[in-house]
Amino acid sequence: MALRLGTPLSRDATRLLLLGSGELGKEFLIAAQRLGVETVAADRYADAPAMQVAHRSHVIDMMDPAALVALVQYERPHFVVPEIEAIATGALAEIEERRLATVVPSSRAVQLTMDREGIRRLAAEELGLPTSPYAFAGSLEEMETAAHRLGFPCVVKPVMSSSGKGQSLVGGADALSSAWQEAQTAGRVGGQRVIIEGFVEFDFEITLLTIRGASGTHFCPAIGHRQELGDYVESWQPQPLAQRALQKAQEMARAVTDDLGGRGIFGVEFFVRGEEVLFSELSPRPHDTGLVTLVSQRQSEFDLHLRAILGLPLDPGFIRPAASAVIRAGGLGWGPVYSGVPEALQVPESTVRLFGKPNAGKLRRLGVALASAEDVETARERARRCASVVHVHPAGVEAGRKS
Ligand code: AMP
Repeated sequence: MALRLGTPLSRDATRLLLLGSGELGKEFLIAAQRLGVETVAADRYADAPAMQVAHRSHVIDMMDPAALVALVQYERPHFVVPEIEAIATGALAEIEERRLATVVPSSRAVQLTMDREGIRRLAAEELGLPTSPYAFAGSLEEMETAAHRLGFPCVVKPVMSSSGKGQSLVGGADALSSAWQEAQTAGRVGGQRVIIEGFVEFDFEITLLTIRGASGTHFCPAIGHRQELGDYVESWQPQPLAQRALQKAQEMARAVTDDLGGRGIFGVEFFVRGEEVLFSELSPRPHDTGLVTLVSQRQSEFDLHLRAILGLPLDPGFIRPAASAVIRAGGLGWGPVYSGVPEALQVPESTVRLFGKPNAGKLRRLGVALASAEDVETARERARRCASVVHVHPAGVEAGRKS
């Protein structure tokens, strides 16, 4: 059947419900708004970035299955699009089974990637993809046994966490108990299992954005990135890599996304060492390191996700080398104020996104600087310079905001 798109807020509207309303969701909803899709944003707190560009928003506990099903019955979206991992996946399976909406890319994909164990076991044990050596542990004792088997240094991460929270690089046996404590207190939920991974001395790491659309699987050029304490600080595209390594990464990305099924974009992460490529992890949604595609590609990762979901033609078409650098500040409380944007925008070929996060306390990534150039090195330098002159201040301190 030919695809028809409705008018938002009318009987025939094409409706989309976003679960998790951060900065990636905000860019995604802007892409959806451009095609006249009716957008509904949900998160556990009010005024989240994507809520600010949605037709409607709801504050709900997304780990509560009954609340999720009730919201879908109330809003009657055609598509339910998860933006975060912490979602009651049982409710997504029910929504799919009862044909209340299409879950993007599929409830199985969301369920398998909601923690590190499901996706790692699928990739390494079922599909046989090469990964770092690893083990899972449910207690400090199990973790100690596993760490001695894997050797030091090793990396300990809670199975449910993102952006480096609760992650430790463990140099020796004496640091194991503090790594266990860190994983328990900083993970998304307490009392949880951890993954212990052998430390990989990679040359660089990449995100391979992989899109499953109506006409098959497409790949964006590899994105390189740099992490600090497990959190992304800088990304660039393209990351040069050997033809053989790219081919291996694409084959692995295709194998794992084919297994997960559904339509949409996937951020597939790899460690690269020479021609050796190790699968690291996968998110079945736009990826933070992919913010660079807002300036490097004809269609950004957000446009591509939307097009794949709607069954529209895809064209990742690369435009020009580009880079992103995050703008961060923590502990500044509600309603932070930004200075330096005029100076930042004087950097050639640059632009800035401020996410509009209401609270700079626990949500540390507040914006991103983007820049393009003739080559990746210049683009990285421009993006870093652009980000470095944006300053974040507590509310009421900047001129005009005095209370
Ligand atoms: P993750 O949350 O698993 O994506 O980890 C965040 C970052 O920590 C990765 O992007 C890597 O830079 C680093 N990292 C994670 N696991 C390992 C590992 N086994 N060896 C080396 N670095 C790692």
